[in-house]
Amino acid sequence: MQKGNISVQTENIFPIIKKFLYSDQEIFLRELVANAIDATSKLKTLALKGEAEDTLEDLKIEILVDAEAKTLTISDKGIGMSEDEVKRYLNQVAFSSAQEFLDKYKDESSIIGHFGLGFYSAFMVADKVEVITKSYRKGEAAVKWSCEGDPAYTLEPAEKETRGTNIVLHISDDSKEYLEESRIGELLGKYCKFLPVEIKFGTKEESVFEGEGEEKVETKVVVDNIINNPSPAWKKSPSSLTDEDYKAFYSELYPHSTPPLFWIHLNIDYPFNLTGILYFPKLTNNLEVQKNKIHLYSNQVYVTDEVKDIVPEFLTLLHGIIDSPDIPLNVSRSYLQSDRNVKKITSYITKKVAEKLDSLFKEDRENFQAKWENMGTFVKYGMLTEDKFFDRGQKFALLENVDGEFFTIEEYKEKIKAVQTDKHEKLVCLYTNSPVEHDGFVQAAKNAGYDVLKTDAVIDNHFMQRVEQKMGELSFVRVDSNTIDKLIDKDETRESVLSEKQQEKVKEIFTTAVDSTGAHVELKALSPDDQPVLITKPEFMRRMREMSAMNGMDMSHMPDMYNVVVNTNHPLVTEKLLRAKKRQGELAKHLYNLAMLNQNMLKGAALTEFVNSSLELLQK
Ligand code: ADP
Repeated sequence: MQKGNISVQTENIFPIIKKFLYSDQEIFLRELVANAIDATSKLKTLALKGEAEDTLEDLKIEILVDAEAKTLTISDKGIGMSEDEVKRYLNQVAFSSAQEFLDKYKDESSIIGHFGLGFYSAFMVADKVEVITKSYRKGEAAVKWSCEGDPAYTLEPAEKETRGTNIVLHISDDSKEYLEESRIGELLGKYCKFLPVEIKFGTKEESVFEGEGEEKVETKVVVDNIINNPSPAWKKSPSSLTDEDYKAFYSELYPHSTPPLFWIHLNIDYPFNLTGILYFPKLTNNLEVQKNKIHLYSNQVYVTDEVKDIVPEFLTLLHGIIDSPDIPLNVSRSYLQSDRNVKKITSYITKKVAEKLDSLFKEDRENFQAKWENMGTFVKYGMLTEDKFFDRGQKFALLENVDGEFFTIEEYKEKIKAVQTDKHEKLVCLYTNSPVEHDGFVQAAKNAGYDVLKTDAVIDNHFMQRVEQKMGELSFVRVDSNTIDKLIDKDETRESVLSEKQQEKVKEIFTTAVDSTGAHVELKALSPDDQPVLITKPEFMRRMREMSAMNGMDMSHMPDMYNVVVNTNHPLVTEKLLRAKKRQGELAKHLYNLAMLNQNMLKGAALTEFVNSSLELLQK
């Protein structure tokens, strides 16, 4: 037996390692299985080149828990190691790289993926680690390396007939959880689900059917329990996959979820290597729950679900897999954000998503429109938060009007140009966030030959503001923000049939009738066909209020700001009201209440009173 000391400077760095990575101990399993995968892949490569003569029939990696012996074993049938290689790789390379790793990152609290510790991470959970290995090379004897968590190790000849490596971890008392089948099963599911070599973890019973119909008999057989899918969809060529395959893979990733709307298969090998499938999920109201579901892989090894720094914020709404060995994994967050490769990857993904949306729109506009309610949130979110995506998104971002027709921004500009250009040459888009509540205003706008957009998504207010900012010639005005003649300011003025004195009188009557609400009474010479009294909510004031509320300010003590506009050309005002002598106040109040009702602003006691006085009026 040989004895020796592992070449590290620090006397004993095991305790440091153990403490340092305490919260992420569980990754030891991923590291060891990844090594087993590497060794197996290397063997396959060598065999392809004719440099290994061994049989490649069964290359399964096996994980074994022995609770009684308190060991966890990872065994592979890969290239194995000769005595020399054990000395070289395990005694020096592994430990010195661990030392380096520690020196470099001991002050970083968030190291993505915690890659880089490799074999050494076994000591986070084991008091003693044994490596029994036999090289694929003819004539190399099997050896056993053993180390008890300090720099001393032993190396001796071992009994091992077959090629490959068994790593035996003698699990320490404070890591007993790794002797539980269920815990190991869970970890394999998390980290190893798509590793490229079959991984066996115990056995399971399966039903086999023989014969047909009545004759059919079921027999149970015991088969290997393979915990992974070695050739996941994202590694296949898109042309070999059907829609069903993509959907099936989605439910493999997220069992019991609603099928995705569409997907993007990513595949690039220059200037960086990246594969993956991004799915567009059916969005629910609770966006937060759906966020951050993209899994990041590196050569089919699971790394993390935290992709915030790799994909733009709005793309965190997507689901699926990104697999790239080019994303630096053993670095801190702040470094990642400034990494050039990561920046390239981010803009590549953004571009791909935009291209896909563009082609979906061009190829099947009907279908695109049908899904717009869902996709709109995503597209608008992207256009709001990413400048580049705003430009790309303009091609397929849709506006929907109250009649359910869809337009791109360009198409819409064309549509309204003739009638909805104001005196400053601005195109005015009219909108309602509630066609039901604004029905009166919508009808009036339509009668005037205007088009009205429906903008009832939560994100629409922000989106419209963004479009105004980016495209100076467009402005959005809510359909109830002014009287019809002024919604689109065209420099056409109408005269009132009333004299100035009469107008003063009208204003006085209404100011008294409206009294305490703080609303501002305004006279306007509209068409006799327009409403006699209108409640308008100036666009600017309303937006301020909405923004303040959005920013978490309590707006409950602030009265709703609105104007009471009296139409000085309506016969009810010009004739009936002025002639009404005694009942002037009553009539004005009634007209005002009708206008309030029209805006859905008449509530509670005021509504009851209005209904009662209407009934009285009808009886007179
Ligand atoms: P890394 O895998 O990053 O090189 P590790 O510390 O995980 O670092 O492993 C060090 C070296 O030990 C590997 O590069 C490999 O040569 C060797 N090794 C580790 N595990 C195995 C294994 N299961 N089979 C063959 N060689 C292995």
